[in-house]
Amino acid sequence: MEFRKIIRNGVEYRFDPLTGEQCRINPDRARRIKQSGDGVALSEIVARTRKTCPFCPERVKEETPVFPGEICPEGRMKLGETLIFPNLNPFGENNAVGVIARAHFLDLDEFSPGMLQDNLLACKDYILSVHRRDKEAVWPVWIWNYMPPSAGSIIHPHVQILLEREPLPFQAKLLQRSQEYSKRNRRNYWGKLLEQERKLGERFIYVNNSLSVLASFAPRGFNEIQFIFNERSSLIELGEPQIADFADCLIKAFRGYKKLGIGSFNLLSFSGPVDDRLDYYRLNAKLISRPYPGGIYTNDSGPFEKLCDTWVIDTLPEMVAEQLKPF
Ligand SMILES: [Zn+2]
Repeated sequence: MEFRKIIRNGVEYRFDPLTGEQCRINPDRARRIKQSGDGVALSEIVARTRKTCPFCPERVKEETPVFPGEICPEGRMKLGETLIFPNLNPFGENNAVGVIARAHFLDLDEFSPGMLQDNLLACKDYILSVHRRDKEAVWPVWIWNYMPPSAGSIIHPHVQILLEREPLPFQAKLLQRSQEYSKRNRRNYWGKLLEQERKLGERFIYVNNSLSVLASFAPRGFNEIQFIFNERSSLIELGEPQIADFADCLIKAFRGYKKLGIGSFNLLSFSGPVDDRLDYYRLNAKLISRPYPGGIYTNDSGPFEKLCDTWVIDTLPEMVAEQLKPF
C-alpha cells in the first residue's frame, strides 16, 4: 500500500491508495481573499423556514407522503424522534427521507447519541422491509446533508436512504479495487489501511470496539474523515452495539467540526450489498465539511471537482486529525 504524493508549485498532489484518484492540497488557499458577501444570520434563516417547514411535527403528517401498506402498515416508520417516509423528489430507487429530530434546527453540538441510534436502527428496518418485498434491491446508501451548502434543501435535520439494484459507480469501483487488492495481497485492504494508519499515527484519530476513525490520506472533501467498521461489509450487519459506537463517533466528530467553525456537511455510507457478506470489503462512511451557511459564500466545489474528477482541497489531512483528536 502506497501513500503516494508529489509536490509541484507548492501544491501536494496525493493519490488515493485504493482508487488512485488525485486530489490537490494547498493549505494556503484557505487564507486566500474571498470576495463573498456578508453572512445572513443563521438564526434568521432558521426562524423564517420554521413557519412553513414540511418536516416540523405540526405539518409532517399533512405534507409528506406515506409508504404502501406492504412496506409499512402505519404509512411512516417511527422510532424515537425518527420518522421515515418516501422522498417526494427522489434521486434513486426506494429513496426515503428519515427525519432525525422533532426540532426544526439543531446545531452541530445539539444532536444526542440516542437520536442518531434511533435513526440508524429505523433506516436499517426500512432497508430490510424494502428488501423483503424486492429481493433485487440490495445496495443501501445512507446520506446526511446538513444545511443548504451541502445540497440539502431543507434545514430540518434529516437523512436520505436509498436501496438500489446496482451499486453507485463509485461504490462499484471501491468493491472492485478492494477485491483486486485482496486477491493480489491475500488480505483485506481496509484492515491493512487501518494497520498502516495506526502505525503512522499522523491521520489516525480514534478507535472503539466497532470502528476506526481517520482523516483520509487523499480526501475528496474538506476536513474529510472516514469511519471504517471492523469485519462488517454492509449497513444491515450493524447490530445495536455497532450502531451505538457509530453514533458516538459521529457526535464526537460533530463537536469537533463545530469547534473548527464548520456549519454544513455531507455524510455518506459506502456499504456492500444486504444479501452478501464480502470478506474483501469493509463498511465505511465519509464525512466532509461544506461552506458555512449564510449569504453569498465561496463554494468548495469548482470546475475541477464538478467536471474533472479532481479534488482541490485546502486542509491537510494530518491537520484535520490533529484538530479532531481532542474530541
Ligand atoms: Zn422543520
